[in-house]
Amino acid sequence: MINLETPKKMAPLIGQANQVAREVLRPISRKYDLAEHSYPKELDMLAAVIDGMNEGSENGGTGAAGVRRSSNGDGQSGNRNGTNLSTALSIIEMCWGDVGLLLTMPRQGLGNSAIASVASEEQLKHYGGKWAAMAITEPEAGSDSASIRTTATLDGEEYVLNGEKIFVTSGDRADLIVVWASLDRDKGRAAIKSFIVERDNPGLKLERLEHKLGIRASDTANFRLEDCRVPKEALLGSPEIDVKQGFGGAMQTFDNTRPLVAAMAVGVARAALEQTRECLQAAGVEIDHARPALSQSAAVSRFLELEADWEASKLLTMQAAWMADNGRPNSLQASMAKAKAGRTCVEVTLGCVEICGSVGYGESELLEKWARDAKILDIFEGTQQIQLLIVARQLLGKSSAELR
Ligand SMILES: Cc1cc2nc3c(=O)[nH]c(=O)nc-3n(C[C@H](O)[C@H](O)[C@H](O)COP(=O)(O)OP(=O)(O)OC[C@H]3O[C@@H](n4cnc5c(N)ncnc54)[C@H](O)[C@@H]3O)c2cc1C
Repeated sequence: MINLETPKKMAPLIGQANQVAREVLRPISRKYDLAEHSYPKELDMLAAVIDGMNEGSENGGTGAAGVRRSSNGDGQSGNRNGTNLSTALSIIEMCWGDVGLLLTMPRQGLGNSAIASVASEEQLKHYGGKWAAMAITEPEAGSDSASIRTTATLDGEEYVLNGEKIFVTSGDRADLIVVWASLDRDKGRAAIKSFIVERDNPGLKLERLEHKLGIRASDTANFRLEDCRVPKEALLGSPEIDVKQGFGGAMQTFDNTRPLVAAMAVGVARAALEQTRECLQAAGVEIDHARPALSQSAAVSRFLELEADWEASKLLTMQAAWMADNGRPNSLQASMAKAKAGRTCVEVTLGCVEICGSVGYGESELLEKWARDAKILDIFEGTQQIQLLIVARQLLGKSSAELR
C-alpha cells in the first residue's frame, strides 16, 4: 500500500480534528440524519472550539476560511505545507465523523472559502468571522454556471440583485450568502461577479428547504432575490468586466474548494472502509496486505480494491491542496482530485454495504447513511462529468467553446 506521509507539524491538528469527530460528531450523526431541518445546536460550542484551534495554530487552520492563496503561496517557496493542506487533512477527519454536520458547521461554509480566495483585505476585515454560504446554482443553470440569469445593476452606491438561487447549502443558517450574478448578460461569463448578501437583507426571500437523500443534517435552501440592494463594496474582486480573463476570477474559488470537497469524500470513504474492516475481522476474515488480492477471499479482494482506490483519491487530494499552498496553478489537479474522490466515495460506501450485507443496509450501523451521504460529493462543486470535461480540456488544450 502506498502511503504519503502526513506532515509532522500537522499531526496535532489532525489529532484534535479526529477527537472532535469521534466524540462530538459521530454520537449525534444518526440523530440529525433523522431530524432533517433541525439545527444541530451542539455545533455552536464546537464551532467556537474550531475558531480557537484556527487562532492558536501557526501552521494553518482547519477552517474553510483558511484557503487563501495570496498570503500563503508565492510560487518561490519550494515546499510549503500550508493552510490548504491542513484544511483538507482536518476535513478528512471531520467527515470521518459526519459530512452533513461538517457542511453545517458555523463559519465553515463554502462561501467562507470563496471570500478567503478572492476578497480584498478590507472585505476580509469586514466580513471575517461570519458564516457564509455560496449561491451559484439556478433553475436554468447548474453545471453550466456561465448561463446564470441573476443580474446585478449598479444604482448609485448600491448594486440591485434580481434572480433565483436554488440548492444553497446552509442558506437558511449562514450570516452571509455569496451570490453569483451578471453585471451585463450580453458580455457573457466575464460579467459574472460574486456579491456578499447579508442573510437578513429584506430583498433575499427564502422560498423553501429541500428534503434530501443524504447529508440531512445540512440545510439546503432556495431563494428569490427581489430588488435586493447591497453596497458597492459587497462585490468580491474587481468590478471590471475583463473579457480576456473570462471566468478566471470566479473560477479561482473552485481551485481552492474542489480539493476540500474531495477531502470530504476521502473522509466519508475512510469511515466506511474502517467499519468494514472491523466487520470482516468480527467475522474471522483476515485481510493480508502482503498477499495478492486475488489469492484471498472474494470479500477481501473487493475490500483491497476499494482501499487502493481510496488511497489514490487521498493522494490526488493532498497533491491539489499542496499545489494551492505553493502558489502553483492546480485547476487540473483540483478537478482530478474531485472526480476521483467523488466517484470513489460512492463506490467505496456502496461496496462496503455490499461486503457487510444486512449489517451494511440496516440502521443499526452508519454504513447505509454514508452510502446516502456519498452521492452529493460527486455532484456539488461540479459533477463527475464536468470534472472530467475540465480535465479533458486541460490535457487537450481545448477551450470551453471547443469541448463542451
Ligand atoms: C444537496 C445539494 C447541495 C448543493 N449546494 C449548493 C451550494 O451550496 N451552492 C450552489 O451554488 N449549488 C449547490 N448545489 C447545486 C449543485 O452544484 C448542482 O446540482 C450541480 O452543479 C449540478 O447541476 P444540476 O443539478 O443543475 O445538474 P445539470 O447541470 O442539469 O446536470 C445533469 C446531469 O447532466 C450532466 N451534464 C451536464 N452538462 C454536461 C456536459 N457538458 N457533459 C456531460 N455531462 C453533463 C451532469 O454531470 C449531470 O449528471 C447543491 C446541490 C445539492 C443536491
